[in-house]
Amino acid sequence: MIKATPKPLEEIIDYVKDFSNILIVGCDGCVTVCEAGGMKEAKILGSALRLYYTQAGKDHEVIETTVTRQCDKEYLAGIKDLVENADAVISLACGCGIQYLTEMYYHKIVFPGVNTHFMGINAERGRYEERCAGCGQCILASTGGICPIARCSKRMLNGPCGGSDNGKCEVNKDIPCAWHLIYERLEILGQLNRLEEPVSAKDWRTSRDGGPRVIIRDDLRKD
Ligand code: SF4
Ligand code: SF4
Repeated sequence: MIKATPKPLEEIIDYVKDFSNILIVGCDGCVTVCEAGGMKEAKILGSALRLYYTQAGKDHEVIETTVTRQCDKEYLAGIKDLVENADAVISLACGCGIQYLTEMYYHKIVFPGVNTHFMGINAERGRYEERCAGCGQCILASTGGICPIARCSKRMLNGPCGGSDNGKCEVNKDIPCAWHLIYERLEILGQLNRLEEPVSAKDWRTSRDGGPRVIIRDDLRKD
């Protein structure tokens, strides 16, 4: 899932200090799971903003809501009246949801309430680890199910850089060397011979070097 963290309150206050009718829109998707932008976080932010406005002696109205997914226009359409009645909107969705809300309500000021980081797993509550960089052409079949693009600090694709120490990455001693992990996994699978196979240059056209990407699935699209 997409992982995000709440923005510092001071940063959000700076965005909205000159507005008085604020709508906070959380998302019930990924940001709820990582406890950055669901209803609970929307309520906490709403309370903090009310306190700020009250202490500053400013008239205000702060409303919190969430939608099932901010990356779907059907759900965004459902908050039309709330958005129209607000001076400014704070979106607690990931960067995708924030931008889709902005596109749907183009005339409305929308601020981000979270920082979006990466696609990762829930290692434990409050610890999220990156696993996929969305390259668009998955190579996990040949790397023992461990992604060197997301997990090797140098994105090495044809083996380790040679700098690892006791299985730790030379760039960051707190993380395992991805290629060490790949070697260990392939050894368990009895597939170490994969490391001797020539590695052809990866086709990066499916990554994002060509700008924002679009997926068109004709099998899913209606005429
Ligand atoms: S190879 Fe690409 S698609 Fe597969 S996990 Fe790594 S970044 Fe994601
Ligand atoms: S030590 Fe391992 S994970 Fe770190 S940069 Fe080198 S190959 Fe990549």
